[in-house]
Amino acid sequence: MKKDFQKIAIPQILEVGTHKMDHVADYICKTDFKKIVVFYGQGIKELFGPLFLGSFEKNQCVKIIEEYVFDDINMSELMKVAFTIPNGTQAIVGVGGGKVLDVAKYIAFLNNLFFISIPTSTAHDGFASSGCSLIIEGKRTSLSAKMPYGIIVDLNIVKNSPEKFIFSGLGDIVSKITAVQDWKFEESHGYTKVHDFAVMMAKKSVNSVVRMPYTSIKEEFFLKEIVDSLTMSGIAMEIAGNSSPASGSEHLISHALDKIIKTPELHGIQVGIATLLMSFVQEHRSERVVKFLTDTGFIEFVQTLNLKRTDFEKAIEMAPEIKPNRYTFIHLLENREKAKKMLSENDLLRKILQ
Ligand SMILES: [Zn+2]
Repeated sequence: MKKDFQKIAIPQILEVGTHKMDHVADYICKTDFKKIVVFYGQGIKELFGPLFLGSFEKNQCVKIIEEYVFDDINMSELMKVAFTIPNGTQAIVGVGGGKVLDVAKYIAFLNNLFFISIPTSTAHDGFASSGCSLIIEGKRTSLSAKMPYGIIVDLNIVKNSPEKFIFSGLGDIVSKITAVQDWKFEESHGYTKVHDFAVMMAKKSVNSVVRMPYTSIKEEFFLKEIVDSLTMSGIAMEIAGNSSPASGSEHLISHALDKIIKTPELHGIQVGIATLLMSFVQEHRSERVVKFLTDTGFIEFVQTLNLKRTDFEKAIEMAPEIKPNRYTFIHLLENREKAKKMLSENDLLRKILQ
């Protein structure tokens, strides 16, 4: 280990609250950016354009010099627009769901520009992380790009996004419980060294949510907690220099499901169910995971999705190949057998999977 303090990229703008979309220009004006380019997801400009663009009419210290409605995550399509960004652009702003944020983040990275993330739903931690997921030659591929310079989240908008996106966010949050356990397991077997600060951050991010009292998952304080937690998860990965604090065996199962199922469910939905499974396999905080996923309504929701046990069995088998260099619980044959047994014997999992 080097005898120096570690430097990491941390977003300079972090605005999470109600009525943020109509003040975006004010937040960007606090920086030195004068010229920006905006990427919208499909249908996003129609929905939020008036609020978003209205802020730039009121505060003209920053100019939008080009707008794109483009959220195709196929690398070949993305490359057609990646180098059409006008000269003089200082930052790229992405507005919308996970796809457009990944597109804008990657194009900003390719052009060595700053990226400002404005998610309209918070289904996973991608809006606050340096990584992105694109399709290269038909395969969903994780790539590293750069940390968002700014994160602006309007909770009114998140509140009105479909409930499944909120459940997906909850699934991605609870996964830190099994992910951190996998990372420590890996260290105890001599495969890696955990970063203590990243572990603390990942743990805090999930604990603040699972211990928070609430009456509805759509109430403002709870939504803010969700967004803060997903943001902290993104920073934990930045500290670690890899995704280990936020992504363990439960994520490997979800990535495998993406390859197996023709139309996969949302990332955090699959990850949440896989977290439930892996908490039983790890015999680690499963009561907490069950209580949280039950109380929030996650379990009730996923029961309506008709997910198949056989797909999960295949995903368990495939999981180690997704990241052969890691050594999580699911990389051990005995744990894969235990996981498959759980699928057919555990009452809760039997209720979720058909
Ligand atoms: Zn995730």
